[in-house]
Amino acid sequence: MGIDKLDSHTVMYGVFGDPIRHSKSPIMLNRAFAASGLNAAYAAFHILPGTLKEAVAGIRALGFRGVNVTIPHKVEVMSYLDEIDEGAQAIGAVNTIVNEGGKLIGYNTDGIGYVRSLKEETGIRLKGKKVLMIGAGGAARGVGYALAREGAAHLFIANRTKAKADELAASMSAFASASSHGTDELQQLAAEADLIVNNTSLGMHPDVDSTPMPAEWIRPGTVASDLVYNPLVTRFLREAQARGAIAHSGLGMFVYQGAYAFEYWTGLPAPVAAMREVVERSFNETTN
Ligand code: NAP
Repeated sequence: MGIDKLDSHTVMYGVFGDPIRHSKSPIMLNRAFAASGLNAAYAAFHILPGTLKEAVAGIRALGFRGVNVTIPHKVEVMSYLDEIDEGAQAIGAVNTIVNEGGKLIGYNTDGIGYVRSLKEETGIRLKGKKVLMIGAGGAARGVGYALAREGAAHLFIANRTKAKADELAASMSAFASASSHGTDELQQLAAEADLIVNNTSLGMHPDVDSTPMPAEWIRPGTVASDLVYNPLVTRFLREAQARGAIAHSGLGMFVYQGAYAFEYWTGLPAPVAAMREVVERSFNETTN
């Protein structure tokens, strides 16, 4: 189904964010709808601070079936919804809205998307594993919750601003054993971890020479995972792999958070390979 096929039956979707013009969600979800033969369309909406409430009312008024929500609106949007799923409640943020006949339900697919991609791409069994999470921002909340629900034995949460690590460890301790640390403890924590996750923006374009920790501290066989997906292979992943670690890129999290949203909206299995392929192609076109 291409743009020339849109008609008066087309079901509408979108993403709300600020900024939003860099978003790969429209190409990924439109590819998913086309691959599944659905008469649906997905666009990016630049929603400025102070206008989110009206934008959410627009979902109901215009009969959109679903919307993704991204920075900076994931927390505020919760106040305007009719129901919030248990996981999104625990994480404290919503990235996916489903419109059930005018009733808006909020979900968070970031953490479950992350875990599904991690398991499929690395084969890791999370039960009983010790995890070092570097960073304690919004994305870390979803990832930490999903890792806890998978039965991780312990979450070491290390952050530049220790107070934010304290807060995240306290809220995660409802679901798993968790402790908070400063980044000065990274060397000793890395020696204990089976999985190290970079939840910071260090290494993200254009800051591609930054890395959350020296690679010498990573043991061979550790799974090194990065939430950053631009570039697809960060300095952290490149160096970790050279040390004998198993590298996991943030692209999978992005693809699977969209795949879960697609599945909640349509009830159909997401065409994940097609979604990943179109995003990878788009990155190659913009970086070449
Ligand atoms: P956020 O809420 O702003 O949190 C940023 C985190 O990075 C904080 O822990 C912050 O530490 C840390 N940080 C930033 N600059 C740092 C520096 N120079 N040195 C040390 N720590 C630093 O952002 P977020 O929404 O959690 O996103 C984090 C990253 O995940 C971003 O790169 C984002 O693109 C990526 N992400 C990827 C996906 C995906 O689908 N793959 C989804 C969501 C997010 P302080 O607390 O000390 O400031």
